[in-house]
Amino acid sequence: MVHFVGAGPGAPDLITLRGAELLRQADVVIYAGSLVNPALLELCKADCARYNSAEMTLEQMLDIMGQAERAGKATVRLHTGDPCLYGAVREQMDALDRLGIPYDITPGVSSFCGAAAVLRAEYTLPGVSQSVILTRMSGRTAVPEGESISALAAHGTSMVLFLSAGMLEDLQTELLRGGYAPDTPAALVYKATWLEEKTVRCTVGTLARAGREHQISKTALVLVGDFLGKDYRRSRLYDPAFTTGFREGRL
Ligand code: SAH
Repeated sequence: MVHFVGAGPGAPDLITLRGAELLRQADVVIYAGSLVNPALLELCKADCARYNSAEMTLEQMLDIMGQAERAGKATVRLHTGDPCLYGAVREQMDALDRLGIPYDITPGVSSFCGAAAVLRAEYTLPGVSQSVILTRMSGRTAVPEGESISALAAHGTSMVLFLSAGMLEDLQTELLRGGYAPDTPAALVYKATWLEEKTVRCTVGTLARAGREHQISKTALVLVGDFLGKDYRRSRLYDPAFTTGFREGRL
C-alpha cells in the first residue's frame, strides 16, 4: 500500500496525527526533499528506507513503490503542504492504478494556510473578498490561457501565488496590469512555520523591491489583496441582530 501524506507547511508538529502515524509505520518513505522538513523523518523506524524525490524521476519512484509493494511493505510518499496542490500527485496515482497498487491520501496543512496563520490574516472578509485565488506565474510549467495573472487579478480578490517568488518583477507588472491598485496590500512569506520563517509586508507596487531588499526569491508565497488591509465589515453570523438556525437574533 502507498500512502500519500501531506507533511504540512514546515513545522514538524503541523503534520496530522494520521500522517505522523503512517510515517512511524512506514517501511519506505519517498519525501519531497526540497521542501519537507527533515525533522519529520525522525518519526520513521530506524530501518525505514528513505528516498529524496527531488533527485528522482516519476519512473524511479514507481520502481521503488512497486518493489515495496511486492515485498508487502508500506510506503509513504511525503508531499509538502497538502498533496493536492502542485504535488504532481495525479500522475503517480494514475500510474499506481495501472500497476494495480492500492493507495490512499492523507491531507496536510497547505502552505497558504500556514502563511495566513503566520500573518494572522483571514482571506475571506465580509465587504472585502469572499474568494481566494490560488495560482502561480507561468514558468517552466505553462499556465493555461485564461489563467494569466492579469486576467485573475481583474477579480481584485484575495490571491496567493505559489512558485513565483523568483519572478517578482514580472509578477508585480502583471498584478498591476490586471487592475490591483499599486497601494493594494501584499506580503511575502518565506518558509512559513519553519524556524527560518520571514514575513515582509509591502504593497503590490513595492513587491519586487521588497523581495530584493529581503533577499526572498524562493520557498515563499506571495499574498495579495485588501484582506491584508485594515477595513472590513463584521460578520452577520455573530451579529446579535442576526437570526441563524442555532440562535435567535435580538436587537
Ligand atoms: N503542496 C504544497 C505546494 C507545493 S509547490 C502546499 O500545499 O503548500 C511549492 C511552493 O509552495 C513553493 O515554491 C512555495 O511557493 C510554496 N511553499 C511551500 N511551503 C512553503 C512554506 N512553508 N512557506 C512559504 N511557501 C511555501
